[in-house]
Amino acid sequence: MTRRSFVAAALAFAGCARAGGVAPALKGNAAPGLTTEAASPATVTPITLTDAEWKKLLNPTAYHILREEGTERAYSGAHWDNHAEGVYVCAGCGLQLWSSADKFDSGTGWPSFTRPIRAEHVRVNLDSSYGMVREEAECARCGGHQGHVFDDGPKPTGRRWCINSEATVFVKRA
Ligand code: FE
Repeated sequence: MTRRSFVAAALAFAGCARAGGVAPALKGNAAPGLTTEAASPATVTPITLTDAEWKKLLNPTAYHILREEGTERAYSGAHWDNHAEGVYVCAGCGLQLWSSADKFDSGTGWPSFTRPIRAEHVRVNLDSSYGMVREEAECARCGGHQGHVFDDGPKPTGRRWCINSEATVFVKRA
């Protein structure tokens, strides 16, 4: 796939994400394909759009979280209490980021995971906003902000990836 067609595919997906649905291609791929290595590439090719382009593609909530590092209110998102099996893909570009297999009830009101679905799919940056030094998690492909990661998580990793529901789209395992 050329870079241009890849971006076009990503844009098509993001347009669907705005409507609150999942792109047909993703639905058709939901299971078991989504859990295979082929659907979860080790090499991630970054995509870069302008702010104006993201604004057109995303609903205001997703734009605020993904592109302005916003945070949804605790217990307000769609996924904090979701116990269905499946994967959570980036609401900006559709990359698989989180799996229900790694989800746990943190009691915080945000979806929480012990690890990303693949280390290569999530980038961690130091965030020193609000007078705190935290580790910020973002999608490795589109740079969309996901949430923060802390060292008070359960086994096996001891990490708590605290993620905004609206930064993801849940794809239920069929
Ligand atoms: Fe992304």
